[in-house]
Amino acid sequence: MPPASQSRAIKAAALVGSGLASYARTRRAKEATILTFHGLCESAGDPGILDWSLHLPVAVFRSVCAMLAADYRVIPLADLVEARLHHKSLPDNSVIITFDDGYASNFELAYPILKKFNLPASIFVTTAFLDGEDIMWFQRVDLALGRTRKKQLDWKVNGNKLCLRLGTREQRQESLVCLMAEMKELHDTDLLGEVDRLEQALEVATPPLADLPAPMRPLTWDMACDMIYSGLIEIGGHTHTHPILSSCDSLAMRAEITTCRDRIRAETGDLPISFAYPNGGADDYTRESMLMVREAGFKCACTTISGRVDQHASMFQLPRYGSPESVWEAEATVSGAFETLKEWRQSCLKAMSLI
Ligand SMILES: [Zn+2]
Repeated sequence: MPPASQSRAIKAAALVGSGLASYARTRRAKEATILTFHGLCESAGDPGILDWSLHLPVAVFRSVCAMLAADYRVIPLADLVEARLHHKSLPDNSVIITFDDGYASNFELAYPILKKFNLPASIFVTTAFLDGEDIMWFQRVDLALGRTRKKQLDWKVNGNKLCLRLGTREQRQESLVCLMAEMKELHDTDLLGEVDRLEQALEVATPPLADLPAPMRPLTWDMACDMIYSGLIEIGGHTHTHPILSSCDSLAMRAEITTCRDRIRAETGDLPISFAYPNGGADDYTRESMLMVREAGFKCACTTISGRVDQHASMFQLPRYGSPESVWEAEATVSGAFETLKEWRQSCLKAMSLI
């Protein structure tokens, strides 16, 4: 576990063990929490993948679900939409489970656990990924850096010169973090060309879907339909090819949102009601993106901006917490303990500045 994750896990365990999570759970019962997951894996560490942050070990997910089923009310995202439309309140301690991108592991590993605990969830799918047209651009970057035989690459991207060190696995992971930060700044029309150029420079080919490491594989539409029929799972939109919407021009942005909606409707028979912005940070979507998502018929859209859902939350900018890495972190998050601690810290600092 990286040092930052370790200290977060220790802080979370202290918040739960000290009783603060239980206090916050009662005090903040009216606020809802939305959790973001991506894929799951049997166990992290396959050398075929550099960035494991998108693939949570299934054992952690199982313990998070057991905790949520015992102490919280896990509701479908549609219930939040309905409650807002009809000015109704949600059950106390409501939690919404979401997954981004549309990985096969959502069906193979997460779905059996969700069924066991009878927990609903929303899966936001990148439709070209499910169509088998293309793997997602950030997967190509991960695999190119992981599979190349080169030991170093001097690379100019976004006007910046990077020295990508590729001698060891750790160096490749560090290079991936630097490179991804730059690539996320590129304009949408330059992004895929940049990935092509990178693969050529690293002398690796774009892997076909069949050659993807298991955690990176997409859901099939049959898997998606199977889950919808259970009544537990909702399929929402996450664009067609996973660009960062703020880097798209209006035409491309609209096409990404409406093609995604149309592919979901064509394959599942249902018009999707929920959407999640790719990457989801405050700079990753615009007011125009929000309007287009609404015009396309979606009833809500999720960000990845941390926060709790209260009656003031905008339905097209719903806050979501990132994937918890342990059951303590999940409990410290959904109870509101992390937020309570943050508020106490801020009022302490304010009081100290007044002294
Ligand atoms: Zn995504």
